[in-house]
Amino acid sequence: MHILILGSAGAVPFLKRDTTMLALTIQQDYMLIDCGGSLVHRMNWCQFPWQKISSLFITHRHIDHIYGFPHLIQAFYLIGRRKPFTIYGPEDVITILPEVMRAFLLKESKLKFPLIFQSVAVTGKRSILETEHVKVSACPVVHGVPALAYRFKDKKTGVNFVYSGDTGPCTELINFANQTDLLIHETSFLVESRASDCGIHSTVADAAKIATLAKTSHLCLIHFNSEPQTKEAAVLKEAMQYFSGRVIISHDLMRIDLDQSEVTLRASRFQI
Ligand SMILES: [Zn+2]
Ligand SMILES: [Zn+2]
Repeated sequence: MHILILGSAGAVPFLKRDTTMLALTIQQDYMLIDCGGSLVHRMNWCQFPWQKISSLFITHRHIDHIYGFPHLIQAFYLIGRRKPFTIYGPEDVITILPEVMRAFLLKESKLKFPLIFQSVAVTGKRSILETEHVKVSACPVVHGVPALAYRFKDKKTGVNFVYSGDTGPCTELINFANQTDLLIHETSFLVESRASDCGIHSTVADAAKIATLAKTSHLCLIHFNSEPQTKEAAVLKEAMQYFSGRVIISHDLMRIDLDQSEVTLRASRFQI
């Protein structure tokens, strides 16, 4: 299983980080999680075979997680895509996306491929997709709007990971991420720089505590609201205070390989 970090910033991208979005390769299945900014450009930059993507999993309706959607559909249209494309997300996202397409005069009837919108109930853990290679499940998290975390399991190797989406610390996620090989958790703030405790985002310490309670093997931090490069040592220090496993600070275009519970980081050949 390969996880490609296409973007790792919070709502406002900065020089070396675009909004948070991930591309997955699980055996012969290609999938996306969230679709902010320059999604197609990023996938081309990394030579990711984006024409082969079968599905997109959206965590919630906030603009930094969906605003690349109409452009992705237009790109599929322009390259003459024929393969069906399925979008999973909370019901409000599934309602909004066709409206966004209409705003850009993107007519579903003109597309040469089936576009399938699949709403996922935000009430308890549930299995949402099983293919020959992958099992995907979802669970609600706490973010002020309906929001989901997703768990992906490679059926051949058994390895799996959870992506939290945007969330405050919550027990649902602890149960959902139980003993996963890798938890990719949003971490919008260091404890010291948290503006206000609104409960819909997490600090580095929050994410690390969740990883410990969920007994995950590795923790990858993502969705940075400010350039943490200069604070990387502080981020690691805060995380390692509460989590004794391996901590990974995500970077755009970083590839994480998960094989038989081994996590390998590949420094990207595709530097920005
Ligand atoms: Zn966000
Ligand atoms: Zn959000």
